[in-house]
Amino acid sequence: MFDYSNIQLQYITPTWLPGTIQAAMLRLDLLHGAVSGNKWFKLQRNVAAARAQGRDHIVTFGGAYSNHLAATAAACHLSGIRCTAVVRGEAAPALSHTLQLAQAQGMHLHFVTRAQYREKEKTDWTALFPDAYIVPEGGHNAAGAEGCEEILAIRDVSAFTHIICAVGTGTTLAGLINSAGPQQQLRGYVVLKGAEYLSAEVESLLKKEHAAQWNLVHEHHGGGYAKVTPDLVAFMNQFFAETHIPLDVVYTGKLVQGFKKEVISGVFPAGSRVLLIHSGGLQGNLSLKPGILHY
Ligand SMILES: *Cc1c(COP(=O)(O)O)cnc(C)c1O
Repeated sequence: MFDYSNIQLQYITPTWLPGTIQAAMLRLDLLHGAVSGNKWFKLQRNVAAARAQGRDHIVTFGGAYSNHLAATAAACHLSGIRCTAVVRGEAAPALSHTLQLAQAQGMHLHFVTRAQYREKEKTDWTALFPDAYIVPEGGHNAAGAEGCEEILAIRDVSAFTHIICAVGTGTTLAGLINSAGPQQQLRGYVVLKGAEYLSAEVESLLKKEHAAQWNLVHEHHGGGYAKVTPDLVAFMNQFFAETHIPLDVVYTGKLVQGFKKEVISGVFPAGSRVLLIHSGGLQGNLSLKPGILHY
C-alpha cells in the first residue's frame, strides 16, 4: 500500500560516536505522516488476513496515547476497513490527541474499565463485535512479526554487524531476528521496567531456522515505560541538533540514549557497523508540554 522510497538510511555522526564505529538509522518514521514506523509493518499482514477472511471490521486494543491505535486508525482509514479500539480506562472529559485523531479517521472508541481491559485476552470480543478480526494490543501476533520481516529488505543492510531497536512487545524485534543474516547481532532495548517475560515472548515468535544472534537489554528503560526525565529530553534535543532526526520520548529516545551509553562503555567493538531502527511513534510527543522538545 505504501511505497517505501521515503524511508532513508541515514548515517549519523553525533559527537559521542567514535570514528571507529559507524552508525545509521533506518528512518521508518518517514514512511507516512499518520501510519507510523514499525506499526504499519505489524499491521499489514493483519489487514490482509482480515480481508482474506472476508471481515470488514478490525478490533484492537490500547491506551489513550497508543501509537498502535493511531496507526491502526490510519491504516484502516486508508484501506477502507472499519475499526474499533477497545480503550483502557473510562473516557476522560477531554480525549487525548491520539484518540481525537483516531476518531477523526473513523475509528470507533469503546472504553472499558482498567479491570475489564486486563481481562481482554480472556474476553470473547466477537460476542460484542460479530465477525470482527481481532488484532492483539501492540499488533503482537505472528502476522505482526512476519510483516516486520520486510523492514530489513527496504534497503541493503547486509553490511551492518549490529541491528538495534526499541522493544515494547518484542514483535518487531522477532521479525528483525527472523530476517537478519547469520553474521548479524540484534539488540533490543526494552522500554519497560522489569519486563523479564519478554525473552519468552520474542522466542515464541521466532522461526526455528533463524540464524542471527540476539539479546535484550534491560538497563535503558530510563525509569520505566513512558517515564520522561530532563536528562532524556536534553539528550533528544541535542541529538536533533546534531543529526536533524526527531526521536520520540517513549521508544526511540531511549533506544538512542541506551546506544550512546553502550558506545561509551565499550559494548560495540571498533569496526562495528550499527543499524538503528527508527520505529516512528513521533505522534506520542504531542502529549508533552509545547516547547520541551526543540522540534
Ligand atoms: C510500539 C512501538 C515500539 C515497540 O514495538 P514492539 O514490536 O511492540 O516491540 C517501538 N517503537 C515505537 C516508536 C513504537 O511505537
